[in-house]
Amino acid sequence: MRQVGKQRHCRLLSVVVPCFNEEEAIAETHRQLVATLGDAVPAIELIYVDDGSQDATLDILRDLQRVDERVRVIVLSRNFGKEAALLAGLANAAGDAATIVDADLQDPPEVVLEMLRRWQNGADVAYGLRTEREGETAFKHWTAALFYRLLGKLADTAVPMDAGDFRLMDRIAVDALLAMPEQHRFARGLVAWSGFRQEPVPFRRPQRASGETKYPLRVMLRLALDGLLSFSTAPLRLALWLGLFAVALGLLGIVYALAERLLAGVWLGSEAWLLLAVLLLGGVQLAFIGVLGEYIGRIYAEAKRRPLYLVQEKLGFPSAPADEPIGG
Ligand code: UDP
Ligand code: MG
Repeated sequence: MRQVGKQRHCRLLSVVVPCFNEEEAIAETHRQLVATLGDAVPAIELIYVDDGSQDATLDILRDLQRVDERVRVIVLSRNFGKEAALLAGLANAAGDAATIVDADLQDPPEVVLEMLRRWQNGADVAYGLRTEREGETAFKHWTAALFYRLLGKLADTAVPMDAGDFRLMDRIAVDALLAMPEQHRFARGLVAWSGFRQEPVPFRRPQRASGETKYPLRVMLRLALDGLLSFSTAPLRLALWLGLFAVALGLLGIVYALAERLLAGVWLGSEAWLLLAVLLLGGVQLAFIGVLGEYIGRIYAEAKRRPLYLVQEKLGFPSAPADEPIGG
């Protein structure tokens, strides 16, 4: 356990940067990261994960690595998505602490200094809390707000609001994250689930330095669904209640029809009741099948135990650490 009042010392800080088509931003990001963090700790390593970029990102990273021995490059064999890229970086990080920074300077390096201070004072995880988001469309703003509120209401684990992937983690939190083999990963939730001491570090999220967002609506929706379904069983419960409600309605209808027959001696539109019952029950079954399908899909994905990413090449690592893809 951690001793209160004792400061942690960072001998090596790992900076993990996922990069997907970031040719316009990456050189400047590197310059700023080194300028800000280079002297803050005895040593840093910058781990750039090329997530299947199709532009000149990899060439630029190779050049950086040639002139700066602190640079490590991990080249994934194709685009696996940010979560997988992060994991590849963390799996190869040797630091006492590791920080995750976007390649587009939307996660300001100065904020990492504050995270580092929190970590030194005992926080296992210091995460960036977005107080303002510049240059994001009102739509993205709204959908993000909606998502966090919904997750807050439904999730079984308290996932911090308005937190992104920008954070600094102690070695124990990194190892815990790497030890979780699940496929549908929602790292923010997993970190919260781990229960380590988390502290928010508020910051203003600036505009993307250059290029455009690599998160189209489609990907945002998938991530939101992963977050909701991985950390909540509310959809299952909702289906159950809907089902019970529909069954109760059906029973009431039957009781009503019988009462009419006994008291008034007429069958009141029995075909209509039948149709209603069929519709209701059919609807319930469909709803259940949909929800079951969602969870069964997950079981299927877990059962496959595919590695989450595949490394093509590694550059600049001291003595290439054994790379064990999760689940592989
Ligand atoms: N990214 C990645 N793989 C992807 C998509 C994005 O490695 O498939 C990286 C991207 O290069 C950037 C970070 O993840 O460093 C965040 O992406 P982006 O800035 O597009 O997201 P936003 O800031 O708009 O949420
Ligand atoms: Mg960005």
